[in-house]
Order: sequence, then C-alpha cells, then structure tokens
Amino acid sequence: MKTILVGAGPRSLILAERLISNYEHEASQDTLSIQLIDPYAIGGRVWRVDQNPLFLMNSAIQQLTFFTDDAVTMAGPVHNGPNFYEWVQTQAPTYLTTHIDQPNAKYFLDHLADLTLNSYPSRGLLNFYANWFYEQLQARAQAVGIELTYTQAEVTDIQNNQPPYNVITDKGTFLADRIVMALGHSSNRPTPEEAQLAKFADEHALRYIKAQHPAEADLNVIPAGEDVVIRGLGLNFFDYMIQLTIHRGGHFEPTAAGTLRYHPSGLEPHIIAGSRSGLPLHAKGINQKTQGTRYRTHFLTEAKLAELTDNGQHPVAYETFKALFVAEMEYVYYTNLAKERGIASDDLAAALVASTNLNATALAFGFKPADLFDLQKVIHPFGNEDNITSEYETLIERYLAFDIEDSGKGNLDAPLTAAFDLIRDIRDNIRILIEGNGFSNDDRKKFLTEFNALSSLISVGPPRLRIQQMLALIEAGVLEVAPAGLQVGITEDKFFVSTDNPNYQYIVTNLVEARLGAIDLHRSTNPLEENLRDRGTMTSASYLLADQSVYSTGALIVDRKNFELITSTGQHMTDLHAYGVPTEKYMWFTTSLPRPYGNDRMLRDADNIARTILAGVKVC
Ligand SMILES: Cc1cc2nc3c(=O)[nH]c(=O)nc-3n(C[C@H](O)[C@H](O)[C@H](O)COP(=O)(O)OP(=O)(O)OC[C@H]3O[C@@H](n4cnc5c(N)ncnc54)[C@H](O)[C@@H]3O)c2cc1C
Repeated sequence: MKTILVGAGPRSLILAERLISNYEHEASQDTLSIQLIDPYAIGGRVWRVDQNPLFLMNSAIQQLTFFTDDAVTMAGPVHNGPNFYEWVQTQAPTYLTTHIDQPNAKYFLDHLADLTLNSYPSRGLLNFYANWFYEQLQARAQAVGIELTYTQAEVTDIQNNQPPYNVITDKGTFLADRIVMALGHSSNRPTPEEAQLAKFADEHALRYIKAQHPAEADLNVIPAGEDVVIRGLGLNFFDYMIQLTIHRGGHFEPTAAGTLRYHPSGLEPHIIAGSRSGLPLHAKGINQKTQGTRYRTHFLTEAKLAELTDNGQHPVAYETFKALFVAEMEYVYYTNLAKERGIASDDLAAALVASTNLNATALAFGFKPADLFDLQKVIHPFGNEDNITSEYETLIERYLAFDIEDSGKGNLDAPLTAAFDLIRDIRDNIRILIEGNGFSNDDRKKFLTEFNALSSLISVGPPRLRIQQMLALIEAGVLEVAPAGLQVGITEDKFFVSTDNPNYQYIVTNLVEARLGAIDLHRSTNPLEENLRDRGTMTSASYLLADQSVYSTGALIVDRKNFELITSTGQHMTDLHAYGVPTEKYMWFTTSLPRPYGNDRMLRDADNIARTILAGVKVC
C-alpha cells in the first residue's frame, strides 16, 4: 500500500513514526511504502536549518518531543525515545559533528553546552533533531521492509475522487492509496490593505515587508539609523527585534542589578513597534514544570463540563466557560500570592475551591482591594491612561519590568505568570467545548475571537529573555513601543502611522508587518489548497449567527474522528486525510509541538490516523 504524506514537518514525521510502530507491532507481511513530499527539507519550513540561529523556540527544551510515551492515550504501541533536551545531551554532539557541513551545525555544536533543561532552543536546532529522528525511522523502516522515502517537491494538486489518487507535484505525478496532508501555515493572498500598501511602497520607493514567515523576510533592506515601524507585537516581532539588533552587531550585557544593557553597533534602525492592543505578549515564566507536571483543574473540570452540557447534549454559555476559566486563574494567583507573603495557604486554597466568588473569598482572607485579580487589567493594563498621558514610555517600561519580575518567579510559583501558564496544561478540557460543539455559534465566535486573543496574550509569549532584551532596547533608545490603536495610512509619499494617542504619530519610509498571514483556506496561496478548495474537495467552517450573518473561520473541515476531508457537499473523501494547522478554529490550538508525558494531542491524532491507514493493510 502506497501512503503519501504531504509535508515533512513535525506532524508528518510523527505520523511516519506511528505508521512504522504500528506496522512493526503487528508484524505485518503486507507491503507498505511511505513517501514524504515537501519543497523544504526534512523538518519542514518552520524549522529550516539555514534560518538565523538566534531565532528561538517559545517552549522550554525539556518540554519538546517527537516520541510517544506511556501518558499518551492511544491504541498503538508506545515507542520511547529522547526528548529534545535528552537528545541534546546524548546524541546531538555526534550528530552535529557528522553533519558539520550543514548550515549552522558548527554554531550549534559550539553552543550545545549552553543549553540547560529549561533553555529555549534555536528553531534551527530542532531541524537537526527532526533529521536525526528521520534517520532513526529509515533504519526501523528498512528492518521491517517498509519503504520510507522523501521527495523534495511541492504538491500542487490531488486528483480523483477516491483512491488511488494522483498526487501532482512540480517534479512529477505519484499514485497513492492513502494520503495525509499536514501542511502547516500556508502563505496568503494579501488583504486589500496589504496590497494597497505594497503598491504604494513600490510607487514611492518605500520599504514594505509583507506578513510572512520571519525566516523568509529580508530585513537587510532597512537602513541603519532610519525609523522603521514594526506592526505587530507577537512572536514575529521578537524575531525581527533580534534581526535588527544583535544580528547587526549589537550585544546585551548583564548588569549587576540582574537586568540587561544594550550596546548598539550603530547599524540598527530606530524601531517603533506597536499593534492594536499596544501590548507585547507576556513572557513565558522560568519553567518549573518537569515532565508530566500539569495544573489540575478545580473549576473547569471534565466533570463540570459534562454536567453543564448534560454530557454534550447542549451548549454552555461562553460567559459561563469564561467564569470557570477565570476562577482557575484566580485560584492560582491567590494561592501563590499567599505563599509569597508567607501566609498559610491551605485554608485559603480550600475556601477558594469551594467559592463561587474568589475575589470575595480573597478579601475575607485579608487581601486588599488593590491585590485583587482583575482580568480587565490584564487585557487593558493602562485603562485609558495611554490616551491622556504623553508618557507611554514610562507605562510600557513599568509593564515590562513587572512582567520580567513576575515571570522570574517561575511558572509554578509566580502569582500572575503561573496563573497565565495553566492554560497550557488544560487545553484538552477547553477542546471538549470547542471541538465538541459545546458552544452556540455566537459563543463559538466569541471564544475564537475574545478568548483566543487572551490566550495568545498570556500563554504563547516568548522566553523571558526576549522581554528583558526588549526593555534594554527601549532604555538604549533603539526601540520605542507605540501606544494602542496603531493604524497605518499614507501621506503623499510616505507611510503615516497613527495610534489612539494623538501625541504618538509617525511618518516613515520603512514598514514591517510582523505577523504570519491568518490561517484561512479562502486566502491561501498554497497551490494544493487552492486547487482542492476551488473544486470543493476542501472546504472551510462557517457558522450562522443569531443575527443571520455568517461567521466564516477559514478553517479546513475534516472528520474529527479519522481526519478525512469533508467536501463542500458533505462527502467524506475516502483515505484522503488532513490534520494540524489548516484546521485551526475547527479544531483548537494546533500550533504547538508535543510535550513529553502530556498525553499530547498531536501524538494521539497521529496514532489514530496511522491505525486508520493501516486498517487497510490488515495490521490493526
Ligand atoms: C515562525 C513560527 C515559529 C513557531 N515556533 C514554535 C515553537 O517555538 N514551538 C511550537 O511548539 N510551535 C511553534 N510553531 C508552530 C508550528 O507550526 C508547529 O509547532 C509545528 O511546526 C506544526 O507542525 P506541522 O508539521 O503541522 O506543520 P509545519 O511544521 O508547518 O510543516 C508543514 C510542512 O508542509 C509543507 N507543505 C505545505 N504545503 C505543501 C505542499 N503543497 N506540498 C508539499 N509540502 C507542503 C510545508 O513546506 C511545511 O514544511 C511555530 C510556527 C511558526 C510559523
């Protein structure tokens, strides 16, 4: 049986491993071939080896793995292997030495000793882990007679309505009995605003860097000393911040006070960074969670969700969900604050768990009104202050300094940072609602807009080091953060950038969009997605709202059980599967790599798909 995996990123590699493990386990005599196809090398586009080695991952290295373990609830066999940190400690020195001709291999080899359990590794280093993993798979495949190959090509179309499918690539056509697409984050058609800005930039010889994967953006065109506006304060921003500073020869020096001081090279531009919210993502706390350590819910429990939905029979109001989620954060916040102040916290913890108003309970235990957890303050920390003060620098510096201090206490102990971090441990509970039709359509929209924005702000941020560097760059006068409400317009021949605060407006010739395009099947320029979408083989999820408007998510629809595509006419495409990032908003939180001993979703899905595929070769 011929299986083609489109994409050679982590999901396809993990799926290949699951296919091999299940096949090995059943000692099948049937033939199986697995062909990975990707225009990027093994490891895929996000993890390409030739990107700036200063670009960091946003997970602690001990929290990353490609291997299954006993915690994964799956039908297939567990196949243990080193997590990323263990690999760095054991296999990486030899592997990097034997692949020293690869881009950055020497750099990574020289810096391996810097990596501790809780370091945030380079994205490029993960590529070596991925390739080592693939080499292990090749040896295992060969031992059981599976043909495992990789073809460097772009798949442009998949033709036929049932297997065998014709897989059309820029290097020829292949036949496949089974196909799984794990396409990751595709590039998009520009929005009308982006197209207009790009055209305007062309006409007036301005520099406009479009929204894209950060490793693919050419920031060398931004001249030293000139103003550049970076629109976006998310993860791409931190890559660009590094690209325009350390990468240009500046360096950070630790001070006696434990902060950082930036020494410019003189080649930096003057960076003005902003966004609609005006807030950078919160720093990840210093990691205190070892393998398998997870926050255990008290309010948003599976039992509570089953009770509220009558076992999935009817939806929960978004506000009810949100109140339970906020209660979890309040619980962590108050118990940690109590510990920090040396107040016995056992009685408090018990009272909080039994409470329906945790702020009132906290007051009863002696906390002051100023101590209370206030979600509005998390989302809008400056209230309207940014509109009335011309001292936004002071506000943002204070904000960053507090974030650095709190995240430095660790993701178990810090009052706020630990409260923020808990979401990373309870995503499966939340998925019960979003993937199990646990919300009405209107509430689904609220979740996917309001809650996703909160989740990004508090839980997907960069390592703490990046926030320390950001503050040092502000203090050095290299970086300025603009107040909320950043909008881009044009003057006669330049970009005009405004904010909610009339004291902060900028006229610039350099503009960088610091974000990836949205995950949106309608706007994708991935030729495979375009062709399948245009024929209705791929379709995206839309929801009719109470006011009769339609909420279109752009998320690819698949069968949530076996990941087969569902067409625009509702037909299931036999043995043509897709999973991962393109389904985001139909599924939830598809953009993080597996965490060891976390019963990780990516590992479970891969095992499930592998066993569905192998049912055809009679091994399951
Ligand atoms: C810039 C960036 C940084 C990130 N950092 C982190 C991080 O630090 N930690 C984390 O957990 N997650 C991170 N993520 C999320 C990341 O996408 C996932 O963790 C992970 O890479 C998803 O794996 P995947 O295999 O589904 O997709 P990807 O890794 O994106 O791989 C998909 C592959 O499919 C290929 N492909 C697409 N279309 C075709 C086609 N038509 N033909 C052939 N091949 C095709 C692509 O070239 C790509 O190589 C990051 C994402 C981005 C974009």
